[in-house]
Amino acid sequence: MRFLPLFLHRQSHHLHHHKPTIPKTNNTLFKMAQLPPLPEVTSLTPSITRILAGNPSKFTLQGTNTYLVGSGPNKILIDTGDGKPSWIAALKSTLSSSSATVSKCIITHWHHDHVNGIPDLLSAFPGVKIYKHRPDYHNPSNVPFLDIADGQEFDVEGGGRLRAVHTPGHTEDHMVLQYLLEGEQGGLFTGDNVLGHGTAVFEDLSSYLTSLSKMKTLVNGRAYPGHGPVIEQARERIEEYIRHRQQREDQVVQQLKAAPNVPAAAGGQVGGEKGWTLMGLVKVMYKDVPEALHIPAAGGVIQILKKLEREGRVRVREDGGGGEEEDRWVLVEQQGGTGAGRGSAL
Ligand SMILES: [Zn+2]
Repeated sequence: MRFLPLFLHRQSHHLHHHKPTIPKTNNTLFKMAQLPPLPEVTSLTPSITRILAGNPSKFTLQGTNTYLVGSGPNKILIDTGDGKPSWIAALKSTLSSSSATVSKCIITHWHHDHVNGIPDLLSAFPGVKIYKHRPDYHNPSNVPFLDIADGQEFDVEGGGRLRAVHTPGHTEDHMVLQYLLEGEQGGLFTGDNVLGHGTAVFEDLSSYLTSLSKMKTLVNGRAYPGHGPVIEQARERIEEYIRHRQQREDQVVQQLKAAPNVPAAAGGQVGGEKGWTLMGLVKVMYKDVPEALHIPAAGGVIQILKKLEREGRVRVREDGGGGEEEDRWVLVEQQGGTGAGRGSAL
């Protein structure tokens, strides 16, 4: 199944309140071992070269993808990887073999596996300008980022331009880059909102869904994700992501509707009229996955509950106990059925 490895991504950002998704089955390591290997440097089109950051792990698939864009000698670099020596070495040799350099670098979002290569980049190419949306957002090492406005365009040497589009979800500062180029050679650099394998983790479900819908309108052909292989049918993949999120949401609604026969195995939590606690829901919805994964799963379920709450479709019972863990979630009865308001963020 495809919804596996990236839930683990969360743990690498644990301190930053990263919200996880959850795998469908429990043979995660087996599946991850099956990821097809990607070469360190690949010329994907005459104007796009992918360089792997050398940081493969259960958190990052085959490692972070960085991309050189442009067919002229002054390239734009997208993302910088995790600071591994192999990455800067591969970047330098790729560029010197074509007598090229990096003039600009665009960062898709603040996560360490995308920004940690910046010091190496700056020492190799001191003149490079580095751009990121919201320069001060999670910037502990005070990288001198130049801001990127939503819709800002960057001319690409050799033809075309990159248009940055603010697409929060995976992170708040997240930008995708639409490569506007004559003919079929453009595409969408999706950052970590959409990946080459599995599903992505997200910080905020509503804005993530809005961003996915927006991204669908930005691409016809290929997408170049922050991790994993090139996505040939980008629009279909994005639709798949949206469907997957909708299925999870439907599961939560179904469970909230379910009668109060909560198994004793659900920790004595009571459903139905009295409402469901978060962990009560998780224990039933994810009864097929190891209990060790219930906490990460809860991060995704609370996101769904908060989205439904904003839409007026669920609420917390007022007579619940203290604290979020004791909150008891119930469906809001609606005229004309509980489907009202559905998908309003789509
Ligand atoms: Zn990443």
